[in-house]
Amino acid sequence: MPCKSCGLVNRSILNGEIGIHFPGLKGIDKPVVWVFPKLVVCLERGTAEFVVPEAELRQLRKSDAAGAG
Ligand SMILES: [Zn+2]
Repeated sequence: MPCKSCGLVNRSILNGEIGIHFPGLKGIDKPVVWVFPKLVVCLERGTAEFVVPEAELRQLRKSDAAGAG
């Protein structure tokens, strides 16, 4: 499948380890959410795509809602 960014097919599927933080001062007391997704990396432009699994997505929603109030 071609890249959404550049339209070329020079992409690689790699293993990722990503710690997701909330930005700014509001984020410092929120837990880091770790995900270990397959990354689809465009080797032309460096753009990357991955899917946050449902369990981790729930953690992000919970933390985000906690910060809104
Ligand atoms: Zn690309």
